[in-house]
Amino acid sequence: MTEWTPTTCMRCAVGCGHLQQGYTNHYGLDTVRGDASHPVNRGLACQRGIDETANPDGKWLTRPLIREEGTLVPTSWETAIGTVVSCVEDALAESSDGVAVLGSGQQTNEAAYALGKLARGGFGTRYYDANTTLCMASAVTAYYQAFGSDAPPPTYEDIPDARTHVVWGANPAVAHPVMYRWIADSASDDDGELIVVDPVESETVDDADLHAQVDPGTDLAFARAVLAQIVADDAVDREFVAEATTGFEATVDSLPAVEEATETAGVPVETVERVADAMTDSTLVYWGMGVNQSVQGTATSRALIDLCLATGNVRPGSGPFSLTGQANSMGTRVCSSKGTWPGQREFTDPEQRRTVADAWDVPRDRLPDDPGPGPVGIVDAVADGPPEVCWTVATNPVAGMPDAS
Ligand code: SF4
Repeated sequence: MTEWTPTTCMRCAVGCGHLQQGYTNHYGLDTVRGDASHPVNRGLACQRGIDETANPDGKWLTRPLIREEGTLVPTSWETAIGTVVSCVEDALAESSDGVAVLGSGQQTNEAAYALGKLARGGFGTRYYDANTTLCMASAVTAYYQAFGSDAPPPTYEDIPDARTHVVWGANPAVAHPVMYRWIADSASDDDGELIVVDPVESETVDDADLHAQVDPGTDLAFARAVLAQIVADDAVDREFVAEATTGFEATVDSLPAVEEATETAGVPVETVERVADAMTDSTLVYWGMGVNQSVQGTATSRALIDLCLATGNVRPGSGPFSLTGQANSMGTRVCSSKGTWPGQREFTDPEQRRTVADAWDVPRDRLPDDPGPGPVGIVDAVADGPPEVCWTVATNPVAGMPDAS
């Protein structure tokens, strides 16, 4: 066997640290296990992560392939790299937007940073994004609107300190199993509580102290009902709201009557009262694709953030905590130079642009003026121009885009 190699499990958004040991006499992995020194999983790893990492569905790609007469055939690295360089140079000769680049939440921070540096500082293209702003577009937009930057304020370290854990439109018991251990451990404390908001009786519901079984498509109505109840209960953290928010009264004025909204959501008023009351404790609100991937996804994500802001739950041990689908969606969004420059530097700020260009040692005017379209707009542009070359990294837009057929 080869030496143990530390790496990251890419099978779900937890991104556990793994140790891998390869075969010495042929390609592939002999043993995969959790890394005890990793802060997220502390040696744990789920069976799916182990199995799918060691034995992925499909063949290992061990050589570059090039299409010849309609068929992909193995080629040398020299030929492959030469072909890529030549295509990219031809496309960039026309315009810096001649190349589109699509990254992925399967990349490490370092890989995402390097790809962004190449796309923005090397090519200078506007047509650059990752699939992470596709599945998470609602949460991304909501964070920008609420906080001016794209990232959930809490970290895993906040989970043990929270008392109320509200899981909304997600099933972390199955989809994020190692992270769910953190949540379940904290919620099982004497003063802990697990509330699940979901039309589905999921595996996470099996452990819940309260299941708010809203009707499908009514998450926004339920969230607004809870905020209306918090206002009615005079449970708003007025000091925090005055200090850290704007527009709160306008938000309150826009709220529906509790009874009306609960009727829309298909739950009894008592359920709303219970959730509103629980949120007066330190609360983490986790939400997943059940919220994000909806025509009301951004509004519902905003409503969940509003719940946290109204109750002062943007402090240690609390906060809005969207759950991604891939191991490093968040790292990609923070490091990749898409909506902001690395380190959440504002994209259009001249000083930040100067800092980035100087650090990369590239002409400042090579950086595109605006972040460009998202993944769907990029794929549309690849069809219609100007990009002539599309470089994808660990993503499959042909399968993943809406209306892919
Ligand atoms: S919880 Fe997720 S990241 Fe961790 S081992 Fe399982 S699949 Fe991999």
